[in-house]
Amino acid sequence: MTVGTIPYCDPQGCVSKGCTPTTCVGTGVASNHTLFERSTKVIPGGVNSSIRAFKAVGGEPYVVARGEGAYIEDVEGKRYIDLVQSYGAVILGHAHPAITAALRSVAGDGTSFGAPTPREMKLAEAISERVPSCERVRLMNSGTEATSTAVRLARGATGRKRVITFNGNFHGATDALLAAGGSGVATLGLPGTAGVPEEAVANTIVAPYNVVPEIGDDVACVIVEPVAANMGVIAPAPGFLEGLRAACDRVGALLVFDEVITGFRLGLGGAQAKYDVRPDLTCFGKVIGGGLPIGAVGGRKDIMENLSPLGKVFHAGTLAGNPMATAAGLAALNELTGDVYMELAARARALSALLRDACASAGIVAQFPVVGTLVGAYFGDRIPTNFDEAKQTDEKMYAKFFHAMLAESVAMAPGAYEALFVGLGHDDQVMSRLAESASRAAQRAMR
Ligand SMILES: *Cc1c(COP(=O)(O)O)cnc(C)c1O
Repeated sequence: MTVGTIPYCDPQGCVSKGCTPTTCVGTGVASNHTLFERSTKVIPGGVNSSIRAFKAVGGEPYVVARGEGAYIEDVEGKRYIDLVQSYGAVILGHAHPAITAALRSVAGDGTSFGAPTPREMKLAEAISERVPSCERVRLMNSGTEATSTAVRLARGATGRKRVITFNGNFHGATDALLAAGGSGVATLGLPGTAGVPEEAVANTIVAPYNVVPEIGDDVACVIVEPVAANMGVIAPAPGFLEGLRAACDRVGALLVFDEVITGFRLGLGGAQAKYDVRPDLTCFGKVIGGGLPIGAVGGRKDIMENLSPLGKVFHAGTLAGNPMATAAGLAALNELTGDVYMELAARARALSALLRDACASAGIVAQFPVVGTLVGAYFGDRIPTNFDEAKQTDEKMYAKFFHAMLAESVAMAPGAYEALFVGLGHDDQVMSRLAESASRAAQRAMR
């Protein structure tokens, strides 16, 4: 029996436990290699997000068949403890019963309408209640859409063009925010990728992280990751976020927090609650979709009301406020109480400690800084405070450790500048297995 060219799995002929109708390659045996290779023939590089490729660490990605709690299983049936957790989007653990039940219960009611629905209102309310700076919330489909909308909104609301970003912060694949920073002093950005014309970043200024830059009165907004979680994990220096707030206020620029990772990950109120600095606009994604595609911009009522249809700044999206994504997001937020974040922070500290011990006993010099529930991994003798310092750490050692961990059935992100994510699935039993795997992996990495 076939659907298109993908044969259905034949339970008699198939020796792979991980094989399903969607992963079967028709040989009776699904393997990571055959599936990935087949993907490369139709998907550029075999991946739909370039970060998933193993380019930075070498080798070929495992192809995931399913996940449960802290574990993922590849198409060959091999299980890994997962520290990627969809780059932080999954916080309850894979296939959490609350999310699965929510999706099942709403799927039969239709999945997209092109008209308002009750759950998008409820999710916007849930965000606004937990993050008081978000007096109004607009939902969309990705973190990238959130940052590009926030920048357009800031420019539209202020009538100014300039945007200040920070070197090593990541705001998704948005042209204006894909500028490369020069090292040291703040520079006018050059395009950080082919396909972005100079004109698109001509008004983007890239400043070093953790130093309050000069902000001119032509600046529409300063956009910042309030805890940097895309160059490892770097905490804001004392006074940095407060300094940005004050400097923006002096010239009437808007302060935009990109909390796509930190929102509902660091705690209920995100980084803005932890550091007690109130931004004008906040970008969300990842956790608020419970593992489904989502993004959101929230902020001050007077600024948000510049968005169409009330104001002149256009925003629209066919799938924005999607019934499935909002159902999953609500189910996720519903589980996330203050106690859960205390528990996650304890697990983050435990992860850092077990990695530190594993590396120390193997003679590997490494740092595993913890900020709330986030853990970074750097191979070097000090904890970086900005991108230049992060780049001085040993990426080759990261790749070695990454592959050693993978061989010991632990999945980390295939790049040296990603955070490690723990969630509700990482219970005591998982943590003690992790400790054993990490110590074997550290020995293995030194062989
Ligand atoms: C992941 C991320 C984005 C982009 O979100 P997508 O949903 O992948 O488009 C933006 N900003 C930060 C801080 C992120 O971590």
